[in-house]
Amino acid sequence: MTRCYNFCAGPAALPVPVLERARDEMLNWHGAGLSIMEMSHRSTEVMGVAARAESALRELMGVSDDYAVLFLQGGASTQFSAVPLNLLGEDGVADYVNTGQWSKKAIAEAKRFGAVNVAASSEDAKFSTIPPREDWKLSDNAAYLHYTPNETIGGVEYFWVPEVDAPLVVDMSSTILSRPVNVADYGVIYAGAQKNIGPAGLTLVIVRRDLLGKADAKCPAMLNWQKAADNDSMYNTPPTFALYLAGLVFDWLQECGGLAAMEVINRRKAQKLYAAIDDSPFYANPVEIPSRSLMNVPFTLANDALDKQFLAEADAAGLLNLKGHRSVGGMRASIYNAVGEDAVDTLIAFMNDFEQRNG
Ligand SMILES: *Cc1c(COP(=O)(O)O)cnc(C)c1O
Repeated sequence: MTRCYNFCAGPAALPVPVLERARDEMLNWHGAGLSIMEMSHRSTEVMGVAARAESALRELMGVSDDYAVLFLQGGASTQFSAVPLNLLGEDGVADYVNTGQWSKKAIAEAKRFGAVNVAASSEDAKFSTIPPREDWKLSDNAAYLHYTPNETIGGVEYFWVPEVDAPLVVDMSSTILSRPVNVADYGVIYAGAQKNIGPAGLTLVIVRRDLLGKADAKCPAMLNWQKAADNDSMYNTPPTFALYLAGLVFDWLQECGGLAAMEVINRRKAQKLYAAIDDSPFYANPVEIPSRSLMNVPFTLANDALDKQFLAEADAAGLLNLKGHRSVGGMRASIYNAVGEDAVDTLIAFMNDFEQRNG
């Protein structure tokens, strides 16, 4: 069997050992005589899977007991609404930093629920930079400051944590688990699972407990973090199979040496790919160097008339899903944890060869 290299931005590549283990356990989970996805979410088995996934994640990321870990549904996009509904209050104001398409969506949703101040934006720079902290125009007494540590579409990543008084609320969908973070720097971390956690259908929210219990009276029960925390993320039926797979991914990450070990590999992968782009007159990446994403690497060809040919030949070579987001065009290689260094090496060799033949 040949597996292709998958550079999809999401749902993204999953580690082969995780898929193999899920395959082996599919019909008869740990001798139970049925698959994990056929069991009640209230069963000892599934409650155990959920509890182990939570403790593995806490260990990987260093999440203290001051934080609740919630496994929810609806994707990061649902959290765009849940964040203001849980934190903004009647007369509150929230600060947002706009660094790309995902920030914009978060801002648009928050505006439905209350006052939003866009403290800074890099839209005029076509989202190729992060506005320097000293230029941010913060509100007095903001309920929170929201930003997107990694913009999946533009390929722009923060390698610093903003110092502000308000709690930081971050959409970490495409950078979570790619390197260690200091959880204590944040009020709320949320992420859709389908980039670096597991399959689609699961949403992770890590929330400092003192930020619970502030939800608007109109906040739907399904979006209320306090309710989720009170019910161990089982207020309703959780996505049990996705949660099980996420648990396997967390175990795999532990076996790889944890997030510090992943960071070493991820930096090496990204550094190689950016070097290949920068060393060539044929390829280009528009992002300012200090803010280049480790996970999502957009690049353009010198002649966009060659885009289709590039993608077709890449496909034929087993390098899949390199098409850039429709809003920016060109190519994008998403090189999450499960995309190995061999995948990046093969991509670079292909790019060099393509340039030789067409440059
Ligand atoms: C993929 C992504 C989203 C959207 O996630 P869904 O789970 O599809 O709602 C939001 N923010 C970022 C940064 C993303 O990468």
